[in-house]
Amino acid sequence: MVEPEHVLVTGGSGYIASFCIAQLLGEGTPVRTTVRDRARETALRASVGKLVRADDRLEVVIADLHAEAGWHEACSGCTGVLHTASPIPSRSPRNDDDLVRPARDGALRVLQAARDAGVRRAVMTSSTAAVAYGSGGRSWPFTEADWSDPGARADSSAYERSKMIAERAAWDWHAREGGALELVTICPGAVLGPVLSPDFSASIDIVKRLIDGSLPGLPRFGWPLVDVRDIADLHVRALRVPQAANQRLIGAGPFTWMEDIARVLRENVPEVAAKVPRRRLPNWLVRLSAVADPVLRGRLFELGKQRPVSADKARQLGWTPRRNDAAIIDTANSLLAQGIVKPA
Ligand code: NAP
Repeated sequence: MVEPEHVLVTGGSGYIASFCIAQLLGEGTPVRTTVRDRARETALRASVGKLVRADDRLEVVIADLHAEAGWHEACSGCTGVLHTASPIPSRSPRNDDDLVRPARDGALRVLQAARDAGVRRAVMTSSTAAVAYGSGGRSWPFTEADWSDPGARADSSAYERSKMIAERAAWDWHAREGGALELVTICPGAVLGPVLSPDFSASIDIVKRLIDGSLPGLPRFGWPLVDVRDIADLHVRALRVPQAANQRLIGAGPFTWMEDIARVLRENVPEVAAKVPRRRLPNWLVRLSAVADPVLRGRLFELGKQRPVSADKARQLGWTPRRNDAAIIDTANSLLAQGIVKPA
């Protein structure tokens, strides 16, 4: 007899989590999810409800990555865990620990509770931040064999360091104390796609700032992109496909410069085309502007760096992500549809 699936998704108020929850519920799998504040439950149910009927098959419990309380109860009776919760701030904190503690210690709390509850497999959301940072960019793809270097502070921010440290700690713990628990880590690129509410993930700013008229030109920044629906699909696939056990999986499409994202928007989203900048900003001007802009200053290490990744391993598990263009266009259209960005 195969045990019926019951999945815990941590951080249910999050962008990726909403789509994971919706996919699981849509496939008939009951889901438990965590929030750190009960006040988030209504918005969470509204977001998931835009994708699928979120009834009593969705249970919402309280747990915070900073504390032990709640994690054992959250894992109890679950066959699988998708651990997506982790802070992803739009501006870097002064102190790395503000991100490293919840990312690393929180992940270990969730994994320990999962092992103790007899969960079969845990899938943890890491990032290409844990793969491709520390030694600059390169023209050939990074793979799952590559690890970012948390000591190379000139080529990362606190966020990237929190992701590399957390994923490393998870694998080290798993080798020492994981017992029968299987672990998979997913390393998404920058996640785009339809937004469900005005409370969106920091990665959506990549498209929002290109269509809301707030950028004077195009800095030489770029990312490997992935659609939120595809990354949710990869999480659910990683939970189920036997060969995924104890693997690291990169989930991202081609590396795309900001000026190429801008071109896709200009050509395909006429309502905002006039607001999308055309001019490439020279690196010296971006550096000068960063003197008065702390958010930009915190991302200067990315300037001009190409970090392509290979998702061949995920594709071998049957993962077929949509084209980057579709993710970019759907992000813009959903920002317009929600009234978050006004037409030009
Ligand atoms: P998001 O919408 O900001 O979701 C982050 C989630 O983490 C929220 O539910 C948040 O809860 C929760 N969280 C943060 N600190 C917490 C704490 N101390 N205790 C409990 N929960 C906490 O971001 P997302 O894009 O969905 O990101 C989800 C995961 O994907 C993260 O692990 C992120 O690093 C990873 N990732 C994202 C991207 C991307 O481009 N978006 C790319 C690669 C990897 P609140 O709602 O209460 O704040």
